[in-house]
Amino acid sequence: MIPYGKQSISEEDILAVVETLRSDFLTCGPRVETFEQEFADFVGAKHAIAVCNATAALHLSMLVADIGSADRVITSPNTFLSSANCSAFVGATPDFCDIDSDTYTMDLESLKQAWSEDVRAVIPVAYAGQSADMKGIAEFARGKCAIVIEDASHGTGGGFFQDGKAWKQGGHPWADMTVFSFHPVKTLTTGEGGILVTDNDEYASKARLLRTHGMTRDSNAFQGLGLDSLSLGEQGPWYYEMLELGHNFRITDVQCALGSSQLKRLPHFIKRRQEIVALYNAAFADIDWIKTPGIRSAEDKGFISWHLYTLQIDFTAIGKTRSVVMVELRSKGIGTQVLYIPVYLQPYYRNSYGYNPGKCPNAEHFYSEALSLPLYPDLSDEDVKKIIAEVLELRH
Ligand SMILES: *Cc1c(COP(=O)(O)O)cnc(C)c1O
Repeated sequence: MIPYGKQSISEEDILAVVETLRSDFLTCGPRVETFEQEFADFVGAKHAIAVCNATAALHLSMLVADIGSADRVITSPNTFLSSANCSAFVGATPDFCDIDSDTYTMDLESLKQAWSEDVRAVIPVAYAGQSADMKGIAEFARGKCAIVIEDASHGTGGGFFQDGKAWKQGGHPWADMTVFSFHPVKTLTTGEGGILVTDNDEYASKARLLRTHGMTRDSNAFQGLGLDSLSLGEQGPWYYEMLELGHNFRITDVQCALGSSQLKRLPHFIKRRQEIVALYNAAFADIDWIKTPGIRSAEDKGFISWHLYTLQIDFTAIGKTRSVVMVELRSKGIGTQVLYIPVYLQPYYRNSYGYNPGKCPNAEHFYSEALSLPLYPDLSDEDVKKIIAEVLELRH
């Protein structure tokens, strides 16, 4: 069975994990900081704060930016639940604008139309690894005093071309914070894990504080317990203070050891993903019932990390429903997936915010035709050929 996505684990990855298990620290040890530093250097950011998953990183981004109940946050509906849920976690109103029907990422014109006075943040999602028009979105949002958080959960290691230069996600100037996921289907894995990347010192130190219960052992930050008695007020080696209400969003050293090892392999992962995408694109280019994923500019080609390869299929033209197609491919040993159901159509969103079908027509149309084919670095050329042949066979 060829799954739609799969991690790639090498002997070196396994050794890195085993070595950590034999060390003194399973969590709160040196491997977390090492991974953070390596990741920050890799993407070209000042700070990286590693956490237990990308959902927690998105939650932190809302907390450090002080987003709250008076605020609205706009994201793309073509995403996993987290990039919308994070604003609801802090009592803000999650809202959505439509996607561009070629790149499946946030559409700038639709963002402008969806704008209202209370929007404090925009979360564009790098669908399949491809960034939205980050420059256009940032210039518009910042002009309205809102911040930009890129959900690059699909994009680890990827980037785009802009103003004559190649930029990495997490390292370009058109996001105030960027979030990555290290779930096993994504381009780099720590089992579960995520990271928040920023150049903003204040956001970074607040994120570190809130990752661990809002508590600190840094005496420079102490405010005191309000106790006069010398013995009770003493700030000995046990002493800590809780300054804010935080969470336990920590990641372990075991996970970060895997992350550091995977980071060395990331350029290879991306190269192989790009090769497979090129094979798929060539095979499906002239098929009139298949639409291949579009890219924003030809110059981006070598920089997109391609977490997903999503086709749009005209199921009416081939006279089969998507479920039938998926079952047929599965019977040939090929796994596929549907990504994503527009988030605002979920019962929670319809019930809580009154959102209805028709809100984002491009996202709904995309959902009706989307089918993601297998894409992961260990997929062989043989497998790719077989997948292509079976997809083309669907018409008959
Ligand atoms: C996977 C994913 C997330 C959540 O990642 P976790 O690490 O599983 O919390 C958020 N946003 C997008 C777009 C994702 O694909």
